[in-house]
Amino acid sequence: MENYSGKLENLKSLEYISPGQADFFKALLNIKEKAKKSIAEADFRLNLSRQDLAARLNKSLPILTFPEIPFKNNLLEEIFQDISGLIKQYNLNSRGEIDSLAGYFQDQKLNLAQFIKDVTLGQTANLEAIEKLTGVKKNTLIFVANQLAKPFFESAAESLNFKLKDNQWLKGYCPVCGSAPLMAKLSRDDGKRILECCLCGTNWPFLRVKCPFCGNEDKDYLRFFFVDDQSQYRVDVCDKCKRYIKTVDERKLPKDQEVVLAVDNIATSYLDILAEKENYVDFYSEQVVAEAS
Ligand SMILES: [Zn+2]
Ligand SMILES: [Zn+2]
Repeated sequence: MENYSGKLENLKSLEYISPGQADFFKALLNIKEKAKKSIAEADFRLNLSRQDLAARLNKSLPILTFPEIPFKNNLLEEIFQDISGLIKQYNLNSRGEIDSLAGYFQDQKLNLAQFIKDVTLGQTANLEAIEKLTGVKKNTLIFVANQLAKPFFESAAESLNFKLKDNQWLKGYCPVCGSAPLMAKLSRDDGKRILECCLCGTNWPFLRVKCPFCGNEDKDYLRFFFVDDQSQYRVDVCDKCKRYIKTVDERKLPKDQEVVLAVDNIATSYLDILAEKENYVDFYSEQVVAEAS
């Protein structure tokens, strides 16, 4: 968390991010770190052998599936309390939604782990049913589910402690949990493109000229844009699937500056706005609930 702090403080100096938004994201990352601490103390162990791990990677399957992640319901409830408190504090418009969702969880005795599973695995029918019953917007449901899932998935990924062999996993989705990338970076040493998972935070190498979302390798349909050519930030877009991914070029950063993509993702919200104006679609956006002013 220490290395986040300075970068998070810097968010406040950005003119397109309000102090409220900066505080919101800081508190959100604090909730995640607190949850990961509790998870570590709660004897968190994956139901997975080294053999299973290797076998899945060799078959080009992500390592983790839901049964392997030991979600703890009491911890999920605590995280939900923290997240709902935060949303209610910073986004007054969402107060009703969050109360309604809390009531729904209570009335239905809905297992939060099941809720995460439905959302993460894209069980849209279940999601739409909850949306209808509670009046909570889909984006809010996805945001809440992701924040609940993240500390568990990150803890799981960190506990795996494995190394990919060269070219073992050149896929556009995460080798650990199968999710899409949040952002990319071009590494300081050799300019290699590294993707970071939006859910478990795993980093993995990927081809420079290829769309991680649809696999398109046709140069004519791949390009990138930036606002300022001195900046470390750029947006890579694919004109086949109309998706985009924000990228940090580490080579343009001073040596002592560290990339923390979770924070860079917030710092570059202006690039999301630009990309969306050009009709490119984001896979995953953390901006949905952060309308704080
Ligand atoms: Zn992942
Ligand atoms: Zn594409």
